[in-house]
Amino acid sequence: MGHSIVCVDNFSTGLERNIHHLRSYNRFSVIRHDVIDPIDIEVDEIYNLACPASPPHYQADPIHTMKTSVFGALNLLELAARTGARIFQASTSEVYGDPLVHPQVENYWGNVNSFGPRSCYDEGKRSAETLFYDFHQTYDVEIKIARIFNTYGPHMRPDDGRVVSNFIVQALKGQDITIYGDGSQTRSFCFVDDLIEGFQQLMATDPSFTGPVNLGNPGEFTILELAEQVIELTGSSSKTICKPLPKDDPRQRRPDISLAREKLGWQPLVPLSTGLEKTICYFDRLLTEEAHEWVG
Ligand code: UDP
Repeated sequence: MGHSIVCVDNFSTGLERNIHHLRSYNRFSVIRHDVIDPIDIEVDEIYNLACPASPPHYQADPIHTMKTSVFGALNLLELAARTGARIFQASTSEVYGDPLVHPQVENYWGNVNSFGPRSCYDEGKRSAETLFYDFHQTYDVEIKIARIFNTYGPHMRPDDGRVVSNFIVQALKGQDITIYGDGSQTRSFCFVDDLIEGFQQLMATDPSFTGPVNLGNPGEFTILELAEQVIELTGSSSKTICKPLPKDDPRQRRPDISLAREKLGWQPLVPLSTGLEKTICYFDRLLTEEAHEWVG
């Protein structure tokens, strides 16, 4: 679209190889920086996507995760207030916790544990929403908040730890597929391209629309169904095995996307099977490359 992009990342979970192809684009630059520290650059739009999103990664250093969401939001909101930039916040379906309302609508306040292994992520993101609200009220900062539901696609790390990448990598390697609990819990999986469309459409809405707005795919699947689809699409001989369900793991999750449909004219277009095929293709190539590098 001809924009100049400044990518700010501490690369705690992101891979530099994912932006390698952009390095030759002269309007693309990278600053290695952690958003828990203030940053001062000239910008007119900010997308705050900073924070590890996979439970094993955000739980590895929970204090840093909380700082990333809270101090990160504060620092970027201060930058937005100074520059007059419009600012996007990657919030999360985790603000609904283990939801008692199904599907989840934006005006549901959630069922979140403030004292547990997921709290650093959930409460960090909830606090960030509050800061966005307060900067909008106090300084008239133009804010856009998206509540993102489970997202997957090419360029995830093979060791990301979330369910889609775990199952695909396990299936491709012929390893056991690890189902946490009995696999009856549900999630709704959105392909990354659909999500990015949603970001752009939200950012382009009238300043009076701030969100929060759910962005996700309303197709809901049990984890067991996901495992079956991955086994079928990879043609793998892997078997499923059960592992303990992590503490506070939400039972069910599905977005109500009526608001996104109405305000953004957005809805996801990629069905789970198509998105899984593309993601399987990516991991297949990645694992083959890795095997060659290892032999080499
Ligand atoms: N899960 C699983 N096996 C795995 C990884 C995750 O059964 O190897 C389950 C996990 O317990 C949860 C769901 O899959 O019920 C989605 O987990 P994920 O970490 O992808 O995201 P979450 O929605 O929990 O943040």
